[in-house]
This record gives sequence, structure tokens and C-alpha cells, in this order.
Amino acid sequence: MGTTNVGGPRLTSHMSTPARPLAVPVTVPLTVPFTAAAVVDGAMGVVVDGIVDIDRMVTHLLAVRTVAINELHALALAAEPAASGSATTAGSAAVSRGWSAQMTARRVAATEVSAALRISEREAEQLVADSSALVHELPSTLDALREGRITYRHASILVDEARSLPSESWSTFESAALPEAESRSAAGFRQRARALREREHPQSIDERRRSAEDSRSVRLEPTRDGMAWLTAHLPAEQAIGAYRRLTEIASGLAAPDEPRTLTQRRADVLADLLIDGVMPDSGIGRGVRATVLVTVPVLSLLNQVEVTGAPSSSLEGYGPISTEVARRLAAHAPSFVRLLTHPETGTVLSVGRDRYAVPRDLRLWLRIRDETCRFPGCGRSAANSDIDHTVDWQHSGATRHDNLAHLCEAHHQLKHHTLWRVNQAGGGVLEWRAPSGRRYRTEPAVRLAR
Ligand SMILES: [Zn+2]
Repeated sequence: MGTTNVGGPRLTSHMSTPARPLAVPVTVPLTVPFTAAAVVDGAMGVVVDGIVDIDRMVTHLLAVRTVAINELHALALAAEPAASGSATTAGSAAVSRGWSAQMTARRVAATEVSAALRISEREAEQLVADSSALVHELPSTLDALREGRITYRHASILVDEARSLPSESWSTFESAALPEAESRSAAGFRQRARALREREHPQSIDERRRSAEDSRSVRLEPTRDGMAWLTAHLPAEQAIGAYRRLTEIASGLAAPDEPRTLTQRRADVLADLLIDGVMPDSGIGRGVRATVLVTVPVLSLLNQVEVTGAPSSSLEGYGPISTEVARRLAAHAPSFVRLLTHPETGTVLSVGRDRYAVPRDLRLWLRIRDETCRFPGCGRSAANSDIDHTVDWQHSGATRHDNLAHLCEAHHQLKHHTLWRVNQAGGGVLEWRAPSGRRYRTEPAVRLAR
């Protein structure tokens, strides 16, 4: 790619030298076409041109990364016996248990990228899928990215819309959409691409709706200050029906002395219905309550004061919450199990209830220790994960805390189906080895005294 010559002296790289040589050949001029003097001269245009040039370099590098990620995916696929004919134990086991070579390779590539870049697996899977689509199906888009004519954001929108079309329509869609990507903002392009996709789609809206329904889901996303989003992706009529009902109930709660706004009442009604409500007809849900652990430092209960810097109260699957909320949940909410912790070390002193038999004790103890799935970067809650024997039971692994750790369904399978390997290093620390040979450590959420 070229950089715009804006005149004036050029600064040779202010970028620091990488700690090790790059594994992927990169051809980008490390020249920043503006200087501090240009700013002093008031030549803002020079600086803006410089920013545009730098952005094109970044975009070019993202295109190079796209090719590299696709290369990793290809290597992972080549390592699969069904694809390459060479047999590995993990590979054969995977095929026999319903993981195709394609699926295993995709999972290996995504977990390698996620662990190495410390990004979520969702994001890494997206990168792997986008890279494969750009390299194999949408080469003109990859070229545009390489030349900095579109941003990575534009490219992912194009891939995203293309992916919802049958593969035979991709090329027509790309030819129509790419010129639009080169001249519009990302938001504007998204709108335009959606319209083009609608035009190109050979399936009727009814057929599409039937397959779109498969993607319905509910998501939890923690945000700041003790709050979180609970989002549902639903068939439109269900979403609208639910929203109308919330609005009607919330409107019915209006009263002259009601301090809550309609928006606040709607949220309260939603929480009440979901936490305490019952499924119509079957009555399923009656008496079912989620059990959530609340960890409360013992001093905050005694003193009724919050000490700055002291361990804070914590809600399982979320993180720190205010002491006041923790106290209220621990005292009045039957769905929340209270754990008292030592004020300085955070060591668990009491499990709050003694209704657990011995194996359940260990189970609960591990749930507090791990808090989430113990695969590098995974945030799925331990409450929804399996307890895995680090050394298999049939290979004389014991059912002890130092041979047990929580793995969510996806990572439990990954451990059995791929060459990801794990060891316990003591104190609840896990040492992982990726198929590539890279190593990762995951620490327990809480160091517990036994
Ligand atoms: Zn996991």
C-alpha cells in the first residue's frame, strides 16, 4: 500500500521495535507522515492526512492478520485425521463422538486465538469464521481491506450479511455491496447492505423466519455499578407481546404517590415475573428458584460499614456488589446462599447452611474456588459447568479437590476431543497446554483454606 505524500519531513518510525520478529511477513512502511512541527504550524490538514494514512496501515495489518488466522485454521484442519488421513488419538475420539473434523479444527483455531489474544471465544470464533469467508469466498473484499479502501468494520458487516445468504448468492452480493462500503460510514453501510441482502435473498421471508428462529437466545452481560443487561433474542411477535404485557402491568401500577417512572416499573415487573412467575398451563416453574452464592466479608455484616480496600461482597457469576445489596440478599432472599469470608484473606469461614452432604460440600467448595469454567478466558459460571477430573477417573485420577476443576460443556468436550491438555499445579492453579504448544495458567477465583 502507499501512503499519501503530504510534504514536509517524515519521521521514521516512532513505533517501538517488536520484542520478537513477526511470524507473519508484513509489508507496511513504518513512516509517520507528520511531525510535531506541522502541528505548531497549525497545519491540521497534515495531521488529519496522517491519521487517515495510519488508519490505512492498521486496516492493511488487519487484512494480513485475516490471512494469518485463516492459515491457523487450515493448519488445524490439516491436523485432523478425517481431513488429512493422518491419525491422532484426540482426532479419532472427536470423530467418533460427533465432532466432525471441520468442527474440531474450528474449535481449536478459535480457542488458540482467544487464549493468545485474550479475547472472548465468541470474538475469536467470529474472527476465524470471518477470515475463512474473506479468504475463500469474498476475495475482492479482502483486497479492499488490504488496500485500506474499507475498514475492518465494513468488512465484517459485509461478511455478516453475506453469511445470511445461500453461498451461490455471495458473489453477486459482494459486487453490489463493496462499492457501497467504499463510500459510506459503517452505520450507513449496514443499512444499505441489509437492503441489498434482502434483494439478493432467494428464499421467501417465511422460510428465512423458520431458520432464524433457531438463533433465539437469552444473554447476560454484566455492566458497571452493580448492574447487568439481560437480553433476549426472540421471534418479533413474542418480543412485542412480552413488551406490551410489561407495559400494561407497569401502567396498572401507576398511583399518585408512586415514585417510580413507567420505565422503572416495567423493569421491576419483568424481574418479578421472571424470578417468581410460573409457566402458564403446565405450572412449570412453581417452587423453582435459582440458587446464587453471595460472598460477604464477615466484618461488613458486623460493623455495618464499608472499609475502603477491604475485600468486597461478591455475587456469583457477576463480581463485586455493594455491601448493602449483599446484606439484603443474604438476609431476605431465599434464592441466595450466603458465604461468610475472612475480612483480610477472603478465606471462606462458613458455608452459611449445613444442609449439604459430604460430596455436595466438596461440590460447593469447588464452585466457590472456581467461580467460572477454568478454561483460559472462559467466563461461563461454575454453577452451569461440569466438574472435570483433571486426570481421568479410569486413569486412577482421584475425586479430590486437587484433581477436580469446573469446565463448561464446550470446554469439557474440547479437552476430550482436541489436544488441549491440563495439569493441576497446586493451590487450585491450572496449567493448560494448547495444541500449538503455547502454555496458559488459570488461577482460582478464591484461594480457600482447607
Ligand atoms: Zn468454558
